[in-house]
Amino acid sequence: METKEINEKSGVHIYVTQPSMPTLEEYIHEIQPIFESRILTNRGPVHRKFEKLLKQFLKVDNLALCVNGHMGLELALEAVGAIKPGGEVITTPFTFISTVHAIVRRGLKPVFCDIEPDTLTIDPDKIEALITENTTAIMPVHVYGTICDVEKIQAIADKYHLKVIYDAAHTFGETYKGQSIGSYGDASVFSFHATKAFNSIEGGAVVFKDAENMGRFLKLQNFGIESENIVSEVGCNAKMDEFRAAFGICNLKEFSKNIEIRKALAEKYDSRLRDVPGITLKYSREGSVENYTYYPVLIDPETFGKDRDQIYNLLSSNNIHARKYFYPAINDLPIYKEQWNMQITPISSRVAGQILALPLYQGLSMDDIDRICDVILG
Ligand SMILES: *Cc1c(COP(=O)(O)O)cnc(C)c1O
Repeated sequence: METKEINEKSGVHIYVTQPSMPTLEEYIHEIQPIFESRILTNRGPVHRKFEKLLKQFLKVDNLALCVNGHMGLELALEAVGAIKPGGEVITTPFTFISTVHAIVRRGLKPVFCDIEPDTLTIDPDKIEALITENTTAIMPVHVYGTICDVEKIQAIADKYHLKVIYDAAHTFGETYKGQSIGSYGDASVFSFHATKAFNSIEGGAVVFKDAENMGRFLKLQNFGIESENIVSEVGCNAKMDEFRAAFGICNLKEFSKNIEIRKALAEKYDSRLRDVPGITLKYSREGSVENYTYYPVLIDPETFGKDRDQIYNLLSSNNIHARKYFYPAINDLPIYKEQWNMQITPISSRVAGQILALPLYQGLSMDDIDRICDVILG
């Protein structure tokens, strides 16, 4: 009976995520004024409204919107002063390629530091050995929304006068020890891409510790234009437009509710997978309040009896599309390996071979989670 039900349901595809969207009516309401003002971009009224709402929601002072998270990373490196000829940035190989591409595209050398086996974030105890006279910054990633060891990282940065730019793409709305996650480091970069917990279709925001750095960022994202007749930086164009800001305003209203739904779904997964030998669930640092964007599990083939790729394929054949996030580790990618693989990071490489991100989004039902877990547990 149970098997039959699963087979019948397997006709429905389940993807790893599904973007949050407002209703058409809500969106029309928010974009209506744009058709009257004819201001489509360049820090228009909707952009400013979105910025203000985000500052209130995240409880931060210095927030700048951006066209996407990736350009936020590139320009944040520049705005905080981390770019110099021959400069090196210490980062994690266990991330989305954007993090490392941002470093390299700004002419800097990525230096890969291994991760902690439980949190999967950069291991602060391994950072100091990688610091040279060329190191300008550390770019850690709060991967899957797990907060990095922000205290130890800051202590190292202070000791060696390094900048800290957090890739906070997965961490929108999270807090650590009661403080907004955006309040740690010199800058934190959020992504509002369609697949993230909070989206503005494409988009992002950068939170800065110093208002001065934010001012520089705002200039850099608008061609370096200072005022009508003065261009003071070689900038680019990385501004958010009014229509995306309007989409973000709509989605922000639903964000907290969505997180509650995701949390309940994640707890359902936990209850099915917690005690399974060979499956390790996501770790959360004590003191953090997370956003449940991802549900990653580690599958140890020796204990579990099947490896990650077998589970991935098994799920696929049941129309369940999990993702090998993040595989391969960046320093195992051929384009990086040949040029940059100076550091061996065995934990990151092992984890990349065992990780699987299971579907998690607010449109998923408890029955869907059961169906997914039934396939995994065979
Ligand atoms: C999504 C993501 C980015 C890039 O953000 P975009 O808004 O898609 O440009 C950067 N870093 C990480 C870890 C991400 O997951």
